[in-house]
Amino acid sequence: RSQLVQIRTGSAALDRLLGGGIETGAITEVYGEFRTGKTQVCHNLAVMCQLPIDMGGAEGKCMWIDTEGTFRPERLLAIAQRFNLSGEHVLENVAVARAFNSEHMQALITRAGAMMSESRYAVLIVDCATSHFRTEYAGRGELAARQCALAKFLRTLAKLADEFGIAVVITNQVVASVDGGAGMFQADPKKPIGGNIMAHMTTTRLYLKKGKGETRICKVHHSPNLPESEATFAITNQGIDD
Ligand code: ATP
Ligand code: MG
Repeated sequence: RSQLVQIRTGSAALDRLLGGGIETGAITEVYGEFRTGKTQVCHNLAVMCQLPIDMGGAEGKCMWIDTEGTFRPERLLAIAQRFNLSGEHVLENVAVARAFNSEHMQALITRAGAMMSESRYAVLIVDCATSHFRTEYAGRGELAARQCALAKFLRTLAKLADEFGIAVVITNQVVASVDGGAGMFQADPKKPIGGNIMAHMTTTRLYLKKGKGETRICKVHHSPNLPESEATFAITNQGIDD
């Protein structure tokens, strides 16, 4: 890879926290409770990655794997307008695939390399990366098999990030952690799904939580090159902003 481009998020505060933006050539995990803005951050990236590098983009297309049917083209149109981009053009540059189970997810990313060889992709989004794994391997004694399949999935993503210099952004939900001592569920801290496999195979982990009103707080939970710090951003009709 020649250079490490970072893709802006739409919020200057968030970009500062991230040392410029979302890293290309790496896997960024965005996790948090429902309605904390994970999908909205992805909507922004799908547009911003198309901007010229000197405007905070990465001059490439977006591939979006949608596991829950939450991709919204109309959100992309509103964000495109904010950056004076043609909405039609922006949508043309986003390849969306609905994935109905984890095997389908694996098949999609296994085939993604062929598309990425043909034209320049800057971002691969998987929203949500863990929901299918979680529901399919729900039974007792299935955890090892789940972690094995998840590891294979993440290895394939890491290879794509490295080979094509794309930013891989995956979303993840949280579970209440069990207090080992009393066996009670704690309200906090919330743990992302995927255990050690997820922790070790993602480059940067960002935790989102609700702030006042439409504001959200992003905390860097794990990163090889960023301090553990936090920033506040807003979700607006035109996307992620300050
Ligand atoms: P889940 O875990 O359920 O997938 P999420 O973290 O992906 O949740 P998002 O869908 O990204 O959550 O964010 C939902 C929030 O985004 C809503 O609570 C709302 O406040 C905000 N939002 C969505 N669309 C708009 C809009 N057009 N204008 C302003 N705010 C919006
Ligand atoms: Mg979502």
